[in-house]
Amino acid sequence: MTRCVWDGLIGQERVVSHLRGAAESGTVAHAYLFVGPTGAGKKSAARALACTLFCDDGGCGSCGDCRRVRAGSHPDLHIFAPEGVTYVVGQIRDIVRDVHLRPAEASRKVYIIEGADRFNDASASAFLKTLEEPPADVVMVLIAREFEDVLPTIASRCRIVRFAPVPPSVARALVMERSGAGETEAQAALAASDGVIPRAIEFLGSPGRRNARSTILGILKRLAVMDGHDVLMAARELLGAVRAPVEEMKSAQAEEAERVREFLSRGVMSDLEKRQKRELTAREREGVTEIMSVTESWVRDCLVMARGAAELVDNVDAADATAEVARVLSTPAALRALDAVGRARQRMAYNVSPQLAVEAMLFDIQEVLRCPR
Ligand SMILES: [Zn+2]
Repeated sequence: MTRCVWDGLIGQERVVSHLRGAAESGTVAHAYLFVGPTGAGKKSAARALACTLFCDDGGCGSCGDCRRVRAGSHPDLHIFAPEGVTYVVGQIRDIVRDVHLRPAEASRKVYIIEGADRFNDASASAFLKTLEEPPADVVMVLIAREFEDVLPTIASRCRIVRFAPVPPSVARALVMERSGAGETEAQAALAASDGVIPRAIEFLGSPGRRNARSTILGILKRLAVMDGHDVLMAARELLGAVRAPVEEMKSAQAEEAERVREFLSRGVMSDLEKRQKRELTAREREGVTEIMSVTESWVRDCLVMARGAAELVDNVDAADATAEVARVLSTPAALRALDAVGRARQRMAYNVSPQLAVEAMLFDIQEVLRCPR
């Protein structure tokens, strides 16, 4: 039996053997909390667990069930993320109602609850009873980066699974193998994707995302000599550039819907539409996040070059510009620039308009580039 669904989880042997063992011996917990850094494969592992539970062949990776889990279209796999800064009671009530419905096709249902560190007291208490005693056919997988950020009332009701960070060289090798890209391309793709391997592979296949990255690097190169009006226009140009991949996704979704429309009932079709809408919203946010990710990796490149470690550069194709900045950049100045990126990420998490977040970040980094000592 092939076990493709677990193959992508490189560097998480302990986690994989634990989860697979549980699935094979029928001892899967009713609620898990997956914790670990971005890019460690928490969501991929949750999907693999769902495959193993739905698939007649224990997670073959190629049957209809496994393929639909991977595409996010299996009717018994439900994925949620906070609609606002935190989960609100209304959203949790919707989830709880859904949890108590019977599975559509499989013998179990799997819920992936992203942002397990983003409950407030009210939404947590609306969720606790269900988390403690979900229906017997339900498996919940909560996901968070830091264990310490999850409310103890939530964490204490879950079996904790810790993911180790994936070493950068391992991630790079995997992206190269899966996409056929060369080393420098794979490196740049990972830098633009916060180290998340599936997103890096998707990046390499998306002309829109690759163009957006070039636009960001081009703007950073010119940023020091721009006037205020130029910076505002640059922010607008960046947000325009990250729109293109959203349009790419929209047309792929329209094709998907067209292909399946005549085979699906109205209810299933409406589920498909809801999922597509969620994917689009996620893609929009990811696009803006990508501006931050690429900027951050560009600043890091300047910093490692300034320290004489050119072999650690992520964006080899932008090395001319970063080398020039590196000649005059002090470490405290580089840290100020990284702070500016961190603030922009935080503003996005608090639902500040992307335009404002990007403008502020560009102005702050411009100041650093002009006074790099
Ligand atoms: Zn299968």
